Amino acid sequence: MSTPSDILKEHGVRPTRLRIKVLNVLMNTRKSFSFQEMYAYFDRGEDRVTMYRILNDLYHGGVIEWVVDIDGINRFVYYPESFGIRPSFRCRHCGSVSCLTPLPEYYIDELKNYWIDDAMLLFSGICDQCLKDNGKKV
Ligand SMILES: [Zn+2]
Repeated sequence: MSTPSDILKEHGVRPTRLRIKVLNVLMNTRKSFSFQEMYAYFDRGEDRVTMYRILNDLYHGGVIEWVVDIDGINRFVYYPESFGIRPSFRCRHCGSVSCLTPLPEYYIDELKNYWIDDAMLLFSGICDQCLKDNGKKV
């Protein structure tokens, strides 16, 4: 498995200490983070503006993706799978993000008739783990 440092290099993004740290969080938690949430994750120990810049650097380098979440907040997420059109699911309880099955071939064929600027299909709700842990009370 590629390390955060390898992944950054593959995308031509210089692997600085903080970029590695932030990417590591996104990779290990499998959660999506807004600027504010990432800042809070490090107990506000890192500079706020720097954190903002780092997420932008990773995004512009094509390392992470950006989603407008159900609550209207922009969040960043790392998808290990190679690019493809696939819906994702975000748990509103634990914040984990999972990739769902990619759209079927015939769907992709149909989309070829259009110029697509962006495709981020997002489902939101409670993940199976949280359902198991909390019953239906979440
Ligand atoms: Zn969950």
